[in-house]
Amino acid sequence: MSACLMLHGIGPAPERLDPEERSYWISEGTFAFVLDAVQAHGARLTIDDGNDTDARIALPMLVEANLKATFFIPSDRIGTPGYVTEADIRELHDAGMEIGSHGCAHLNWLNASDAEIARDVTQSVERLARITQAPVRSVAIPYGQCDRRVLGVLRHVGIGRVYSSFRGPDVEGAWLARRDCIMADMGPSEINEIMTRQPAAAEAALNFLRIWRHTGNAALWAA
Ligand SMILES: [Zn+2]
Repeated sequence: MSACLMLHGIGPAPERLDPEERSYWISEGTFAFVLDAVQAHGARLTIDDGNDTDARIALPMLVEANLKATFFIPSDRIGTPGYVTEADIRELHDAGMEIGSHGCAHLNWLNASDAEIARDVTQSVERLARITQAPVRSVAIPYGQCDRRVLGVLRHVGIGRVYSSFRGPDVEGAWLARRDCIMADMGPSEINEIMTRQPAAAEAALNFLRIWRHTGNAALWAA
């Protein structure tokens, strides 16, 4: 088990964002600290939402650190102001980064029908695969909002790996991945703690119960 980190925008948050959204943007200094910590502890990196900082800031720093990340991109945002372009996505892919789906329009899938979820996922997967000329197998759940119905649809449409926002160490190879979000207000000690913690038995049991309630199938978390 190791940590799987979830990041969003890097650098100063755009003025257009509300305070809640801004709390997900981390400074370049924090990103550099995270990269050092990943080199030391071996965590996985994921970056959501397709902000233009993926290509402008994250990519050069990842290449410099010789690290890889998975980028989850809402496909309707491609080429719109503040977000990655098709050329950016090809550049990320050509640099060895994994490209994953984050749906088309960053919908809350709990409020969508099965057919809407299936369409939102498959259309985004197809567009990203066309851009990269490579299969797209992974999906990150917008807002982390899911239940067993949502996960059932993702399984049904053949998604290879689903990245949730359930916290806790990730089991390599499990269909449903847990992630820890790095937030703007986190300092070095908090980030280090996420990277190095061993799950306490009580926390593991609580996690299991929470996952069971959401998915009805804790076996999803096993490798
Ligand atoms: Zn998102």
